[in-house]
Amino acid sequence: MIAMKFGGTSVGSAEAIKRVAKIIESRFERQPVVITSAVGGITDKLVALGKSAATGDDDLVKELVDFITNRHLEIIDQLRLTSGELRRIIDDTIDDIKNLCRVISSQKNISKMLNDELSSKGEYLAAHILVEYLSQIKIPATFVDVREVLLTDSSFGSAKPLFDDSAKNAVEKILPIVKDGSVPVLQGFVGRDASARTTTLGRGGSDYSATLLGAMLGVDSVEIWSDVDGVLTADPSIVSEAKRIRSMTFKEAAELAYFGAKVLHPATLLPAVTRDIPVWVFNSMRPEYSGTKISRANNNGQKGSCIVKSIAYKENLTVITVTSLRMLMAHGFMASIFDIFNKYDTSVDLVSTSEVSVSMTVDKTEHIDEIKEELSRFAQVEIEQDKAIVCLVGEQMKRTPGMPASIFCLLQDVPIHLISQGASEINISFVIDDDNVDKVVTRLHQHFFSGALDPNTFAV
Ligand code: ADP
Ligand code: ASP
Ligand code: MG
Repeated sequence: MIAMKFGGTSVGSAEAIKRVAKIIESRFERQPVVITSAVGGITDKLVALGKSAATGDDDLVKELVDFITNRHLEIIDQLRLTSGELRRIIDDTIDDIKNLCRVISSQKNISKMLNDELSSKGEYLAAHILVEYLSQIKIPATFVDVREVLLTDSSFGSAKPLFDDSAKNAVEKILPIVKDGSVPVLQGFVGRDASARTTTLGRGGSDYSATLLGAMLGVDSVEIWSDVDGVLTADPSIVSEAKRIRSMTFKEAAELAYFGAKVLHPATLLPAVTRDIPVWVFNSMRPEYSGTKISRANNNGQKGSCIVKSIAYKENLTVITVTSLRMLMAHGFMASIFDIFNKYDTSVDLVSTSEVSVSMTVDKTEHIDEIKEELSRFAQVEIEQDKAIVCLVGEQMKRTPGMPASIFCLLQDVPIHLISQGASEINISFVIDDDNVDKVVTRLHQHFFSGALDPNTFAV
């Protein structure tokens, strides 16, 4: 059995859905379980819809509802899906969306709960369309509402999966369909809490859904089908000549995902690591020319000659620096700082300390004022915005002395605010101003990837 996840672009048009169906067909013997994202761009529109309903912008609400409706109708029309049942599902879902907008409008505010309910609709629609198209071309397929399987806590917008209970459901609800020779198709991104309310795993969360469900079902591999040839040496939107990485370790890929490589949701590798399930990243537009294998072994056991495998970055971060003379020799000072971040459910990405100060980067700034106020009770607090982390990853980095020196030599003219070498020593991360991201990533990429590259590691 394998789990296959298709991202927004992969199901973004009738043509794309036809390609996806071919890919599924080519793997039919391997008993695929399919997880789909919403049609590309639809989740953004649903989120915008919730906001415009909350501010009472009725014109924009209507425009967005029409856009969402027409986009799906156009696709089913081009796929010649004439089933009355599918049409009813789409109409009912659009009615649900309109009703949700009315509730949000009357409350003049959108709760995180309603935001999740609304933004989950894209995956629901895409999954039904895919099932209908597969059935039309005689690939037996069955829709399984992922909310009957994937249970989570109630942190709407970034819900935490409850693995063991969900795994029982997965085995009960998904396995019989596979055994029956049909392809189960489920929504990515979505779950349900103990009170049967819809939750979501956070933006880009369908990758995580795929490895979670894959681990629960004990699949042989998980395939993430996207619009890039695999995990690349850098974000192709900054570095157009970025190369495909043939294979990487779980650790390398997890660091990259965590530090912003959008091709994988930050939590994607966790379930795969625990069950030792290889994860592949493929391009649904070029199935035969693509692929990065992420697994425990590196390069199928060979040692590559590359030092850096990839460069990631994460923008729009805030740096908080806490300074206090009381930190000197004091026990528990760090703990009291992190307790405050914990209390506001704000995770810290990168930390750097000196004798009397500690600097941290955070992504989520919802509670920054409260955090500042509590920290100010015992320390001086400075907050800087518009910062970015750049992170270089590679297993070989731990065996290469002088790496930090060579990196910072290259970046002499760029202000660097914090530096951290991960405990695993397979990454070096540092904080710069958002404005310098393009320049820094391009320069580092040129330095590490313009010479002769190891063909075992990179597709060149
Ligand atoms: P999907 O909708 O398939 O989940 P995403 O847009 O979430 O696709 O992720 C794919 C995108 O990730 C690519 O189009 C690319 O712009 C971006 N990306 C950023 N860093 C990398 C990287 N190192 N390798 C590949 N893609 C990357
Ligand atoms: N559709 C969701 C999003 O756009 C989840 C995903 O695509 O992974 O964030
Ligand atoms: Mg994605």
